[in-house]
Amino acid sequence: MKFLCPVCGYPEMEDPPERFEICPSCGTEFGNHDFVFDERDRPARLAELRAAWLAAGAPWFDVGMTPPRNWDPWKQVMKEGLAVVLASTATVARPPAIVKIAREPWDVTRNTKVA
Ligand SMILES: [Zn+2]
Repeated sequence: MKFLCPVCGYPEMEDPPERFEICPSCGTEFGNHDFVFDERDRPARLAELRAAWLAAGAPWFDVGMTPPRNWDPWKQVMKEGLAVVLASTATVARPPAIVKIAREPWDVTRNTKVA
């Protein structure tokens, strides 16, 4: 079974995004980076982490692991509906200059993905 990272949309996490599991794609350490005192603040915290990762150029985190073939962090995050491109990239191939972070609360029931 594979799990979806709620920060970057990476769909191949080996373990659920909790208990200090680290996403190899965005580097979020769950239970640490996403810690909130009030669970209702979690979607906003995940959005902050996502925005910071995207602002940094969405780099692959795990240097000891090769990214999936043809890995595209921008497609990954958009495929999962976590960010929407606002600016047209008709003249600039990538990355998009401006991204809008999805405001919808993350649905935890989507964390489990059938491989
Ligand atoms: Zn991630």
